[in-house]
Amino acid sequence: MTNETTRYDTTLSPEQGDEERHYEISLRPKSFDDFVGQEKLKDNLRVMVEASAKRGDPVDHVLFCGPPGLGKTTLAHILAEERGVELHTHAAPALEHKGQLGTLLTKVEPNDIIFIDEIHRLSPVIEEYLYTAVEDFQIEIVQGDGPYAQSFTLPLQPFTLVAATTRTGLLTNPMRTRFGYMARLDYYSAEELAQVVTRSARMLELETSAEAAMEVARRARGTPRIANRLLRRSRDFAQVRGDGKLDIETAKLALDRLDVDHEGLDEMDRRYLRILIEHYDGGPTGVETLAAALSEPRDTLEDVYEPFLLQQGFIARTPRGRTVTRKAYEHLKLKAPKRLRKAVDDDQETLF
Ligand code: ADP
Repeated sequence: MTNETTRYDTTLSPEQGDEERHYEISLRPKSFDDFVGQEKLKDNLRVMVEASAKRGDPVDHVLFCGPPGLGKTTLAHILAEERGVELHTHAAPALEHKGQLGTLLTKVEPNDIIFIDEIHRLSPVIEEYLYTAVEDFQIEIVQGDGPYAQSFTLPLQPFTLVAATTRTGLLTNPMRTRFGYMARLDYYSAEELAQVVTRSARMLELETSAEAAMEVARRARGTPRIANRLLRRSRDFAQVRGDGKLDIETAKLALDRLDVDHEGLDEMDRRYLRILIEHYDGGPTGVETLAAALSEPRDTLEDVYEPFLLQQGFIARTPRGRTVTRKAYEHLKLKAPKRLRKAVDDDQETLF
């Protein structure tokens, strides 16, 4: 593993590392009021919780979609907390047998929430089994083998399925239609992330200036998980190098060391853009080719890097592949060739 990869994995990846699980749990907002941003989505969820509590029914099934680290798991916890029910968490790849799913479904109390992370990774058999459970609150149990097999229907307590996915496109249509509400989480603005940082700093009892909080926020790739992680790294820096307070100078110093730039792009983002520009004339290039050139799985490019680069306007996804935009050249301080500039603009026009 190269140094570059090590640094990326431990500090700047939007995905959660083992070491920070504990840290994240302690900083996790417990109510809608504590959860920063995503206002429209929160309003809808609040109404759903209130209405279901009034009726005494479970909350409608909810699907959270969006890149890692934006708050999908946190919202599942908040939903359970605000509805006053238990949350049962499961990762889709760990659900391998019907029996396993049956056991966990029969364990729930009325109106409890079952949270399945990475739902797009459920096996087709388990997925189909889940359909009847979420739709009719019952499952089919088969006992015995071969000609002596007997099947009977087992009623379940009414429950809510809350699922999270980074890849809505990979969900089957029947699965998607089972959800009463599909909530898409967007990247956060720097102002919103500054609120996340300020709140976390307060909880960590770290004195942080407003300017320093904003600096951390601006470089966090629109992602609360990264904002919290950068804050933690900056805290180390403040404690070792400074007087324990996080001011703008210390924050800048710490963040420069971590190699996140003022647009929030990290080493991996810049490598992506640089390879596209230097090896492939700015594109269009297929994602498989890029994945091979970057030695990263295609999924990681599509789930983690590209959504942010697209949203920030550094790349465009065209029918012929990925292309960089003029903004990417400018950001890397490279001169965009005229010919390419025109091609990129044309592609964008046809697409959007
Ligand atoms: P996901 O499930 O989308 O990968 P998480 O829900 O695990 O993301 O969020 C990662 C961390 O970021 C959480 O532990 C929480 O501390 C923080 N976080 C996420 N969204 C928010 C938010 N809107 N406000 C405050 N903190 C947040």
